[in-house]
Amino acid sequence: MTSHMMELSVTKRSQGASSEVARDINRRIVLNLIRTRHPISRADLARLSGLQRSTISLIVEQLIQENWVLEGPTGRLPRGRRPTFLRLNDERVIIGVDVRPSQTTVALADANGRFISQEMMATSSDPKAALDELIECIQRIRRSCRGKKIEGVGISLPGRFDHTSDRLVFAPNLKWRDVDIRNPIADATGLEVELENAANACVLAEVWFNRLEECRNLVVMTVSEGIGTGLLANGELVRGLNGMAGEFGHVPLDPDGPLCGCGSRGCWEVFASNRAALRYYFESHAEAEGLTFPDLLSRADHGDTQACKALDRMAHYLGRGMRLIVAGLAPERIVVVGDLTKSWHRFGSIIEAAVQAQVLPGGVAPKIVPAYEDGMARLRGTVALVLQKHFSV
Ligand SMILES: [Zn+2]
Repeated sequence: MTSHMMELSVTKRSQGASSEVARDINRRIVLNLIRTRHPISRADLARLSGLQRSTISLIVEQLIQENWVLEGPTGRLPRGRRPTFLRLNDERVIIGVDVRPSQTTVALADANGRFISQEMMATSSDPKAALDELIECIQRIRRSCRGKKIEGVGISLPGRFDHTSDRLVFAPNLKWRDVDIRNPIADATGLEVELENAANACVLAEVWFNRLEECRNLVVMTVSEGIGTGLLANGELVRGLNGMAGEFGHVPLDPDGPLCGCGSRGCWEVFASNRAALRYYFESHAEAEGLTFPDLLSRADHGDTQACKALDRMAHYLGRGMRLIVAGLAPERIVVVGDLTKSWHRFGSIIEAAVQAQVLPGGVAPKIVPAYEDGMARLRGTVALVLQKHFSV
């Protein structure tokens, strides 16, 4: 993203640009550099952006006035001028919401992506009740952060969200049908609300916080109750018609397979999700009532061979389905998000072998990596979702 932005700034400048567009672009470049390199001096901003010192000074002055950027502390150099470092104002905060089929997490983060607080609640299957509870929680957090400026609410959803109709259109594991989530929350709180599919939110988190700016073709796979994919192709998020792109989890691998939450049979996710591994284990083991996926991982680590077999089978199917993605999109990298990343030693090699086995002539197998600091990927994505309108060119 950074190099792309710099190209733009150079182009605009070479056109003799003092236009508003160029000013706006330069401002975002400066904001982004402060975000990713803070604490940073004005001199380093000029060097890294290629912009003139006087331009940097003007932009920084404006950003300080608008309360986006704070000065200090002063740098410690042995001799000469002591540069004043700049950083984003952490009094500007974002409320991030991660809605999952069983549990919803509401968190408060600052503009630097640091989480200040977190609350969790069960996700009601009744959307009206769930929204009421969520609104109450957001209001509670609002009251607790007096003096800070709330930039907005970012929400990650376990389903597809249609940005044109403002509706959740497909969420088979959540069972909410055709629901407007944005307007009730925006009306009740007066805050701006941004919504995104969970896997897309994870793509934003990777690009925004993990500095994957240079990776133009990226797939993020969320593996939990279901399987979702977020697709970045040629540097752009792929949403598709009605926001439905990326539902590889519902491509059937076996039309005679088990019934899926979407109504079809034998979808990829019924063979490769956390639920699938639990089902494999139940089929081989009578005493497993109330077992969760993390329990299954732990049993495998303690030498339960049936648990190991169930997880190996899940890993095999993950790799098998990934071939579809690799053949169709040729990503440079696939980032996997989910509880399974805690046992990556168990999954990684099986998945890689399954993908490697069928790389097309002329193709290159992508890097398959677990998400960094996985538990927060969706929430970090919601922070990026709210902030990106101020930062992206
Ligand atoms: Zn399905």
